[in-house]
Amino acid sequence: MLNQINGLHHITSMASDAQSNNDFFTKTLGLRRVKKTVNFDAPEVYHLYYGDAVGTPGSVMTYFPFPNARRGRPGTGEVAVTVFAVPRASLGFWQERLTQRGVTNIRIETRFGENRLGFDGPDGERFALVETEDDPRDPWTENGLSGDVAIRGFHSADMRLKDTGASAELLRFMGYEALDQQENVTRFHIPGGNAANVIDITQVDAPSAEQGAGSVHHIAFSVDNRAAQKDVLSALRDTGYDVTPVIDRDYFYAIYFRTPGGVLFEVATNEPGFTRDEDTAHLGEALKLPSQHEHLRPVLEEKYLDPIRD
Ligand code: ZN
Repeated sequence: MLNQINGLHHITSMASDAQSNNDFFTKTLGLRRVKKTVNFDAPEVYHLYYGDAVGTPGSVMTYFPFPNARRGRPGTGEVAVTVFAVPRASLGFWQERLTQRGVTNIRIETRFGENRLGFDGPDGERFALVETEDDPRDPWTENGLSGDVAIRGFHSADMRLKDTGASAELLRFMGYEALDQQENVTRFHIPGGNAANVIDITQVDAPSAEQGAGSVHHIAFSVDNRAAQKDVLSALRDTGYDVTPVIDRDYFYAIYFRTPGGVLFEVATNEPGFTRDEDTAHLGEALKLPSQHEHLRPVLEEKYLDPIRD
Protein backbone atom coordinates (compact mmCIF):
# COMPACT_ATOMS: atom_id res chain seq x y z
CA MET A 1 0.00 0.00 0.00
CA LEU A 2 1.24 3.47 -0.88
CA ASN A 3 1.77 6.18 1.71
CA GLN A 4 2.87 9.08 -0.53
CA ILE A 5 -0.58 10.37 -1.53
CA ASN A 6 -1.98 13.25 0.55
CA GLY A 7 -5.51 13.57 -0.88
CA LEU A 8 -6.78 15.64 -3.77
CA HIS A 9 -4.49 18.00 -5.71
CA HIS A 10 -6.88 19.43 -8.34
CA ILE A 11 -10.00 18.53 -10.29
CA THR A 12 -10.21 19.43 -13.97
CA SER A 13 -13.48 19.84 -15.86
CA MET A 14 -14.72 21.12 -19.18
CA ALA A 15 -16.77 24.25 -19.79
CA SER A 16 -18.48 25.89 -22.75
CA ASP A 17 -17.59 29.51 -22.06
CA ALA A 18 -14.50 30.96 -20.37
CA GLN A 19 -16.15 34.19 -19.24
CA SER A 20 -19.13 32.64 -17.46
CA ASN A 21 -16.88 29.97 -15.98
CA ASN A 22 -14.53 32.65 -14.66
CA ASP A 23 -17.40 34.73 -13.26
CA PHE A 24 -18.98 31.76 -11.50
CA PHE A 25 -15.82 30.66 -9.72
CA THR A 26 -14.43 34.09 -8.83
CA LYS A 27 -17.55 36.22 -8.34
CA THR A 28 -20.15 33.70 -7.15
CA LEU A 29 -18.01 31.15 -5.31
CA GLY A 30 -15.31 33.68 -4.35
CA LEU A 31 -12.27 31.64 -5.32
CA ARG A 32 -9.11 33.25 -6.65
CA ARG A 33 -8.11 32.69 -10.24
CA VAL A 34 -4.55 31.52 -9.63
CA LYS A 35 -3.51 30.84 -13.22
CA LYS A 36 -4.64 31.82 -16.68
CA THR A 37 -2.86 29.59 -19.14
CA VAL A 38 -3.73 27.23 -22.00
CA ASN A 39 -4.31 23.52 -22.35
CA PHE A 40 -0.72 22.41 -22.97
CA ASP A 41 -1.97 19.69 -25.37
CA ALA A 42 -4.40 22.03 -27.21
CA PRO A 43 -3.10 25.58 -26.75
CA GLU A 44 -6.00 27.23 -28.57
CA VAL A 45 -8.06 26.46 -25.44
CA TYR A 46 -7.66 28.22 -22.08
CA HIS A 47 -6.76 26.36 -18.93
CA LEU A 48 -8.12 28.30 -15.97
CA TYR A 49 -7.23 27.47 -12.38
CA TYR A 50 -9.20 28.62 -9.32
CA GLY A 51 -8.28 28.07 -5.67
CA ASP A 52 -7.07 29.74 -2.50
CA ALA A 53 -4.47 32.55 -2.32
CA VAL A 54 -1.69 30.50 -3.90
CA GLY A 55 -3.57 27.54 -5.34
CA THR A 56 -2.65 25.18 -2.53
CA PRO A 57 -3.04 21.56 -3.66
CA GLY A 58 -6.42 20.36 -2.46
CA SER A 59 -8.07 23.69 -3.29
CA VAL A 60 -7.66 23.87 -7.06
CA MET A 61 -10.56 23.56 -9.49
CA THR A 62 -9.45 23.86 -13.10
CA TYR A 63 -11.28 24.15 -16.43
CA PHE A 64 -10.78 23.73 -20.13
CA PRO A 65 -13.38 26.04 -21.68
CA PHE A 66 -14.10 24.79 -25.22
CA PRO A 67 -16.22 27.55 -26.80
CA ASN A 68 -19.78 26.30 -27.48
CA ALA A 69 -18.97 22.76 -26.39
CA ARG A 70 -21.92 20.41 -26.21
CA ARG A 71 -22.93 19.46 -22.69
CA GLY A 72 -21.79 16.14 -21.33
CA ARG A 73 -24.31 13.50 -20.38
CA PRO A 74 -24.05 12.44 -16.74
CA GLY A 75 -23.65 8.73 -16.09
CA THR A 76 -21.25 6.23 -14.63
CA GLY A 77 -17.48 6.15 -14.90
CA GLU A 78 -16.97 9.76 -13.87
CA VAL A 79 -16.63 12.14 -10.97
CA ALA A 80 -20.25 13.24 -10.61
CA VAL A 81 -20.06 15.73 -7.74
CA THR A 82 -17.22 18.00 -6.66
CA VAL A 83 -17.55 19.01 -3.01
CA PHE A 84 -16.03 22.07 -1.31
CA ALA A 85 -15.61 22.65 2.42
CA VAL A 86 -17.16 25.72 4.06
CA PRO A 87 -17.27 26.76 7.74
CA ARG A 88 -19.92 25.60 10.18
CA ALA A 89 -23.22 27.52 10.04
CA SER A 90 -22.52 29.04 6.61
CA LEU A 91 -24.94 27.03 4.45
CA GLY A 92 -27.80 29.49 5.06
CA PHE A 93 -25.65 32.29 3.67
CA TRP A 94 -24.71 30.19 0.66
CA GLN A 95 -28.27 29.12 -0.05
CA GLU A 96 -29.36 32.76 -0.16
CA ARG A 97 -26.34 33.89 -2.20
CA LEU A 98 -26.68 31.16 -4.81
CA THR A 99 -30.44 31.70 -5.08
CA GLN A 100 -29.99 35.45 -5.58
CA ARG A 101 -27.46 34.80 -8.33
CA GLY A 102 -29.75 32.50 -10.23
CA VAL A 103 -27.82 29.31 -9.54
CA THR A 104 -29.96 26.30 -10.38
CA ASN A 105 -30.87 23.01 -8.72
CA ILE A 106 -30.07 24.23 -5.21
CA ARG A 107 -30.86 21.48 -2.75
CA ILE A 108 -30.24 20.72 0.92
CA GLU A 109 -28.90 17.22 1.50
CA THR A 110 -27.48 15.17 4.35
CA ARG A 111 -24.77 12.62 3.83
CA PHE A 112 -22.83 10.75 6.51
CA GLY A 113 -24.37 13.10 9.05
CA GLU A 114 -23.04 16.23 7.30
CA ASN A 115 -25.23 19.05 6.04
CA ARG A 116 -24.54 19.88 2.45
CA LEU A 117 -25.89 22.29 -0.12
CA GLY A 118 -25.99 20.92 -3.63
CA PHE A 119 -26.15 23.14 -6.73
CA ASP A 120 -25.31 23.17 -10.42
CA GLY A 121 -22.52 25.05 -12.14
CA PRO A 122 -22.90 27.06 -15.37
CA ASP A 123 -22.64 23.93 -17.54
CA GLY A 124 -24.90 21.81 -15.35
CA GLU A 125 -22.03 20.27 -13.43
CA ARG A 126 -22.86 19.22 -9.92
CA PHE A 127 -21.29 20.74 -6.82
CA ALA A 128 -21.92 20.66 -3.12
CA LEU A 129 -20.75 22.69 -0.14
CA VAL A 130 -20.26 20.80 3.12
CA GLU A 131 -19.95 22.39 6.54
CA THR A 132 -16.78 21.20 8.25
CA GLU A 133 -15.40 21.86 11.73
CA ASP A 134 -11.93 23.23 12.41
CA ASP A 135 -10.71 23.29 8.82
CA PRO A 136 -7.12 24.55 9.16
CA ARG A 137 -7.01 26.08 5.68
CA ASP A 138 -7.06 29.83 5.09
CA PRO A 139 -9.67 30.97 2.57
CA TRP A 140 -9.31 33.58 -0.17
CA THR A 141 -11.35 36.57 1.02
CA GLU A 142 -10.47 39.22 -1.58
CA ASN A 143 -13.47 38.45 -3.80
CA GLY A 144 -15.98 39.78 -1.29
CA LEU A 145 -16.59 36.75 0.92
CA SER A 146 -15.64 36.92 4.59
CA GLY A 147 -13.65 34.26 6.40
CA ASP A 148 -16.69 32.94 8.26
CA VAL A 149 -18.30 31.73 5.02
CA ALA A 150 -15.57 31.46 2.35
CA ILE A 151 -14.66 28.16 0.70
CA ARG A 152 -11.61 26.46 2.26
CA GLY A 153 -10.82 24.07 -0.56
CA PHE A 154 -12.07 20.66 -1.57
CA HIS A 155 -13.86 18.42 0.87
CA SER A 156 -14.26 15.42 -1.41
CA ALA A 157 -15.18 14.09 -4.81
CA ASP A 158 -17.96 11.61 -5.56
CA MET A 159 -17.29 9.02 -8.26
CA ARG A 160 -20.32 7.29 -9.79
CA LEU A 161 -19.44 3.78 -10.87
CA LYS A 162 -21.31 0.80 -12.20
CA ASP A 163 -18.84 -1.68 -10.75
CA THR A 164 -17.10 -0.36 -7.66
CA GLY A 165 -14.92 -3.29 -6.58
CA ALA A 166 -11.75 -2.66 -8.56
CA SER A 167 -11.82 1.09 -7.92
CA ALA A 168 -12.26 0.53 -4.17
CA GLU A 169 -9.28 -1.79 -4.30
CA LEU A 170 -7.26 0.84 -6.17
CA LEU A 171 -8.11 3.53 -3.61
CA ARG A 172 -6.97 1.20 -0.82
CA PHE A 173 -3.73 0.62 -2.72
CA MET A 174 -3.31 4.39 -2.98
CA GLY A 175 -3.59 4.70 0.81
CA TYR A 176 -7.30 5.35 1.28
CA GLU A 177 -9.30 3.50 3.95
CA ALA A 178 -13.02 2.75 3.88
CA LEU A 179 -14.56 4.99 6.52
CA ASP A 180 -18.30 4.52 6.30
CA GLN A 181 -21.12 3.23 4.14
CA GLN A 182 -24.58 4.72 3.60
CA GLU A 183 -26.92 2.98 1.16
CA ASN A 184 -25.05 2.79 -2.16
CA VAL A 185 -22.24 5.19 -1.11
CA THR A 186 -18.91 4.15 0.41
CA ARG A 187 -16.72 6.83 1.91
CA PHE A 188 -12.92 6.54 1.83
CA HIS A 189 -10.32 8.79 3.43
CA ILE A 190 -6.57 9.04 3.86
CA PRO A 191 -5.70 9.17 7.57
CA GLY A 192 -3.25 12.00 8.12
CA GLY A 193 -3.74 13.31 4.59
CA ASN A 194 -4.38 16.89 3.53
CA ALA A 195 -7.75 18.51 4.27
CA ALA A 196 -9.11 17.27 0.90
CA ASN A 197 -8.65 13.62 1.79
CA VAL A 198 -12.14 12.14 1.22
CA ILE A 199 -13.46 10.20 -1.80
CA ASP A 200 -16.99 8.82 -2.05
CA ILE A 201 -17.81 5.98 -4.41
CA THR A 202 -21.46 5.71 -5.39
CA GLN A 203 -22.65 2.51 -7.04
CA VAL A 204 -25.24 3.24 -9.74
CA ASP A 205 -26.65 1.06 -12.49
CA ALA A 206 -26.67 3.58 -15.32
CA PRO A 207 -25.10 4.00 -18.75
CA SER A 208 -21.61 5.40 -19.05
CA ALA A 209 -21.27 9.17 -18.95
CA GLU A 210 -20.52 11.01 -22.18
CA GLN A 211 -17.96 13.73 -21.69
CA GLY A 212 -18.70 17.30 -22.68
CA ALA A 213 -19.13 20.71 -21.09
CA GLY A 214 -19.78 20.25 -17.38
CA SER A 215 -18.01 16.90 -17.19
CA VAL A 216 -15.04 16.29 -14.95
CA HIS A 217 -12.15 15.44 -17.26
CA HIS A 218 -9.83 14.02 -14.59
CA ILE A 219 -9.14 14.06 -10.89
CA ALA A 220 -5.64 14.63 -9.55
CA PHE A 221 -4.11 13.38 -6.32
CA SER A 222 -1.33 15.16 -4.47
CA VAL A 223 2.18 13.93 -3.68
CA ASP A 224 4.81 16.14 -2.07
CA ASN A 225 7.54 15.93 -4.69
CA ARG A 226 9.02 14.12 -7.67
CA ALA A 227 10.66 11.40 -5.55
CA ALA A 228 7.28 10.46 -4.07
CA GLN A 229 5.73 10.56 -7.53
CA LYS A 230 8.42 8.23 -8.86
CA ASP A 231 7.60 5.71 -6.12
CA VAL A 232 3.88 5.93 -6.93
CA LEU A 233 4.55 5.53 -10.66
CA SER A 234 6.64 2.39 -10.12
CA ALA A 235 4.14 0.86 -7.72
CA LEU A 236 1.19 1.49 -10.06
CA ARG A 237 3.06 0.03 -13.02
CA ASP A 238 4.08 -3.00 -10.95
CA THR A 239 0.40 -3.51 -10.14
CA GLY A 240 -0.44 -3.51 -13.84
CA TYR A 241 -1.67 0.04 -14.46
CA ASP A 242 -0.79 1.65 -17.76
CA VAL A 243 0.65 4.91 -16.43
CA THR A 244 2.02 7.73 -18.61
CA PRO A 245 5.59 8.95 -18.20
CA VAL A 246 6.07 12.04 -16.03
CA ILE A 247 4.81 15.15 -17.86
CA ASP A 248 5.95 18.67 -16.96
CA ARG A 249 2.88 20.88 -16.49
CA ASP A 250 5.00 23.90 -15.42
CA TYR A 251 3.18 24.24 -12.06
CA PHE A 252 3.43 20.54 -11.15
CA TYR A 253 4.63 17.27 -12.62
CA ALA A 254 1.87 14.88 -13.67
CA ILE A 255 1.32 11.20 -14.40
CA TYR A 256 -2.02 9.84 -15.63
CA PHE A 257 -3.77 6.49 -15.75
CA ARG A 258 -7.27 5.24 -16.49
CA THR A 259 -8.92 3.48 -13.56
CA PRO A 260 -10.98 0.29 -13.81
CA GLY A 261 -14.21 2.24 -13.22
CA GLY A 262 -13.45 4.56 -16.17
CA VAL A 263 -12.31 7.69 -14.31
CA LEU A 264 -9.02 9.28 -15.42
CA PHE A 265 -6.66 9.70 -12.44
CA GLU A 266 -3.63 11.94 -12.26
CA VAL A 267 -0.94 12.04 -9.58
CA ALA A 268 0.54 15.56 -9.36
CA THR A 269 3.41 17.01 -7.34
CA ASN A 270 2.92 19.88 -4.90
CA GLU A 271 6.07 21.47 -6.33
CA PRO A 272 6.83 23.89 -7.90
CA GLY A 273 3.36 25.47 -7.55
CA PHE A 274 1.58 28.42 -9.13
CA THR A 275 3.96 31.11 -7.84
CA ARG A 276 6.65 29.66 -10.09
CA ASP A 277 6.20 32.34 -12.78
CA GLU A 278 4.12 35.10 -11.14
CA ASP A 279 4.22 37.13 -7.94
CA THR A 280 1.62 36.03 -5.39
CA ALA A 281 0.12 39.54 -5.54
CA HIS A 282 -0.64 39.22 -9.28
CA LEU A 283 -1.34 35.52 -9.55
CA GLY A 284 -3.67 34.58 -12.39
CA GLU A 285 -3.77 38.02 -14.01
CA ALA A 286 -1.57 37.64 -17.10
CA LEU A 287 -1.88 35.00 -19.80
CA LYS A 288 0.95 32.59 -19.08
CA LEU A 289 2.10 30.27 -21.84
CA PRO A 290 4.44 27.32 -21.44
CA SER A 291 7.75 27.91 -23.19
CA GLN A 292 6.93 25.41 -25.96
CA HIS A 293 3.87 27.50 -26.94
CA GLU A 294 5.21 31.02 -26.33
CA HIS A 295 5.81 31.50 -30.08
CA LEU A 296 2.05 31.03 -30.60
CA ARG A 297 1.12 33.96 -28.35
CA PRO A 298 0.17 36.44 -31.09
CA VAL A 299 -2.10 34.00 -32.92
CA LEU A 300 -3.63 32.63 -29.70
CA GLU A 301 -4.43 36.12 -28.41
CA GLU A 302 -5.65 37.31 -31.79
CA LYS A 303 -7.75 34.37 -32.92
CA TYR A 304 -8.53 31.89 -30.19
CA LEU A 305 -8.47 33.22 -26.65
CA ASP A 306 -11.12 35.88 -26.12
CA PRO A 307 -9.99 38.22 -23.33
CA ILE A 308 -11.59 37.45 -19.97
CA ARG A 309 -13.11 40.47 -18.19
CA ASP A 310 -12.45 40.41 -14.45
ZN1 ZN B 1 -4.66 17.68 -14.11
